[in-house]
Amino acid sequence: MSDTFRAAQARSDAITAKMAEDPASLRMLTGDRPTGNLHLGHYFGSIRNRVALQSSGAEIWQLIADYQVITDREVAGDIAGSVRSLLVDNIAAGLDPERATIFTHSSVPALNQLMLPFLSLVSVAELQRNPTVKDEAKTAGITSIGGLLLTYPVHQAADILFCKANVVPVGRDQLPHIEQTRVVARRFNERYGAVFPEPDALLSEAPLILGTDGTKMSKSKGNVIELRMTADETAKKIKGAKTDSERVITWDPDGRPEVANLLLLISLCEGTSPEQVAEEIGDGGGGLLKKRLTEAVNTELEPLRARRTELLGDPGALDDVLRRGNERANGVADATLDEVRSAMGMTYL
Ligand code: ATP
Ligand code: MG
Repeated sequence: MSDTFRAAQARSDAITAKMAEDPASLRMLTGDRPTGNLHLGHYFGSIRNRVALQSSGAEIWQLIADYQVITDREVAGDIAGSVRSLLVDNIAAGLDPERATIFTHSSVPALNQLMLPFLSLVSVAELQRNPTVKDEAKTAGITSIGGLLLTYPVHQAADILFCKANVVPVGRDQLPHIEQTRVVARRFNERYGAVFPEPDALLSEAPLILGTDGTKMSKSKGNVIELRMTADETAKKIKGAKTDSERVITWDPDGRPEVANLLLLISLCEGTSPEQVAEEIGDGGGGLLKKRLTEAVNTELEPLRARRTELLGDPGALDDVLRRGNERANGVADATLDEVRSAMGMTYL
């Protein structure tokens, strides 16, 4: 475990303590890119924490990061369909649209304008070092990184800071971006006076869920188990998941990462420990491991899938959620941009 990860984990633990002691001091912002449908990586890496933060009483801002779709591809595909799918999954998983503000950042001009002063606070070398940007370019098969992909962590700083969020529930891949946001906030405050908080990541017990091919589960990779899949589709996907040639199932996250990932998923669904699940399966081998995982995932997701179908039956209500979310986000973004311009001395009339 790297020192940076350890430090981020310690700050994440402090946020967990705050959720019990002083939830009113927490303002959450997190987001997903509308590049496809949400999957188990989102669910265990971030969504469960979003719902836990909401239940604790924290303020909730949920972003659908539509501009960021075109960071690593030329065209956005069925972006409206993906936006709808993300909206529905987040609500079906437990975000309450009466309490959470759900919005698309392309609808909030003042948020995007924060990108200009923020870009002045970072160097090209710093942006080029970001390991997640490098990974994403590699996954997308990009050899020449475009301006929007390079500056995407700064755009994300605008996403988080426009509403002055101080907690961001994310998976491990996002840690370099949260660090970049902390740097932007710190440098802005040093240069112009205290305006922004330095947000912390809230990490889950599953900061990096692997997909069926043994690499990070990602919408863009086709290695996902989607929340919206039917029970049969889920069974088929799990059947094809990569394991290894050892017969007996054991808990060995370093030596057997693919098997450990499936054990972890079972334990997260069932609320048991992965060691315990491994012991129970043991000689039953990969077949029993996958059978138990299929049952566990289908049981866990059954209520979400039912709620999803129900929500899709009322598209007008979903449009309303987004309309209200965008309105609210615009109000807050306008106020923050005014404050930023005034801190920078850019108010003349
Ligand atoms: P894409 O491939 O288009 O980048 P993605 O699957 O990586 O899609 P994002 O929308 O980029 O999903 O990520 C949304 C949130 O879900 C982020 O907080 C991210 O850290 C988290 N997340 C995504 N994949 C995983 C995973 N495999 N394990 C844990 N968390 C994840
Ligand atoms: Mg991603």
